[in-house]
Amino acid sequence: MVLNHTVSIPDRYSVRFIYIVAPRILIQCLHKTTRPLTPVRGVEFFQGTLDSTDEIESARVFDTTLRDGEQSPGTSFSYDDKRQIAAVLDDMGTHVIEAGFPVNSDAEFEAVRDIASSTSTTTCGLARVVDEDIEAALESGVEMVHVFVSTSDVQIEDSMHATREEVTERAVQSVERVKEADVTCMFSPMDATRTDEQYLMDIIEATSAAGADWINIPDTCGVATPTRFKALIEKVCAHTDARVDVHTHDDFGLATANALAGIEAGADQAQVSVNSIGERAGNAAYEEFVMAVESLYQTDTGIDTTRIAELSDIVEDKSGMPTPGNKPVVGDNAFSHESGIHAAGVIENSDTFEPGVMTPEMVGAERKLVMGKHTGTHSVRERLHELGYEPTTDQVRAITRRVKDYGAEKRRVTVDDLERFASEVGLERESEEEEVRV
Ligand code: MN
Repeated sequence: MVLNHTVSIPDRYSVRFIYIVAPRILIQCLHKTTRPLTPVRGVEFFQGTLDSTDEIESARVFDTTLRDGEQSPGTSFSYDDKRQIAAVLDDMGTHVIEAGFPVNSDAEFEAVRDIASSTSTTTCGLARVVDEDIEAALESGVEMVHVFVSTSDVQIEDSMHATREEVTERAVQSVERVKEADVTCMFSPMDATRTDEQYLMDIIEATSAAGADWINIPDTCGVATPTRFKALIEKVCAHTDARVDVHTHDDFGLATANALAGIEAGADQAQVSVNSIGERAGNAAYEEFVMAVESLYQTDTGIDTTRIAELSDIVEDKSGMPTPGNKPVVGDNAFSHESGIHAAGVIENSDTFEPGVMTPEMVGAERKLVMGKHTGTHSVRERLHELGYEPTTDQVRAITRRVKDYGAEKRRVTVDDLERFASEVGLERESEEEEVRV
């Protein structure tokens, strides 16, 4: 038998809605008129210490998997890879797809051009403040050109070999060129979080006056913290009439937190990548950002979240970057339970030891009960029932002992193992297997 150590558990949401959520909403309507009702989404937010969902009103998603994501060391997407990933992002309702850097190569240009013409969402192409880059991006037919230039002194001096004045002049000219072509323009002062603050505000004002539709604030080297980044974005919003977007990196594991802080501060959109692939430690993760907005902030992104697991699998495959088991939302362990207390609770009601506001069904994943050292009798009994056994309490206990001992030796406990343990304690199958998925 092919190994499968997982168990599916019935979703209890429908029952919960009828008996718990709906009456609660009714009571809110009757008694809590001073507090605005939170919209009813997949699962209600628990009435707990963190029950506050009014920080943001909306959040747009700019996906840069095909641009910054592809800049992951060792990652290279083919033309077909890019088309396939873009098609899924488009179908899911992603607001902007940054398809690549058109001037980079003929193949890149063709991929960006064909994504722009085949998707219904906004396609974006990247360009330095260089004529050749901007003309290539415009020629590719993208609806948005993303112009970027270094603004931190360290990058101006040691990467650009220019001066602040030259940087501002080239930035303004580039924005003007894109707007002459009547294409949406996003301007990024690269390394904004390590840029002199007065100079940053000056270049934001200059490029906004030149017609930039979007100002993106990149935390290029991942040095922001949520509170500081929120304060910076509030300041940026006060210095521009353009819409504000944020681009965060995960060098300290704060990329998604910083992106959300940016949205709380008034940014309209965040740049993310699927599985958080990207330069160095990567970008804010698409799946983390979208699900935090949907589940924790109870705000509709308009994105079809049920395809997140599928999207993640495709990007894992095409990027050659394996997804760690403990990766939020999309890792193999994200909805897996092994320890006895947690597994028993989840069998009773999955909300006991999962967020509740985010279920595997919401992201197109499955809940799993993993057999191992920490397994308890509840999981073993549930699994044996699924396999068609009707064990006694003593048999469950004896089999659980074997599962724990086997798992303690760092071995995976498979269905075959479980059947062997059953036969060792004299347990015979009474009915045919009902639901064994491979
Ligand atoms: Mn980046």
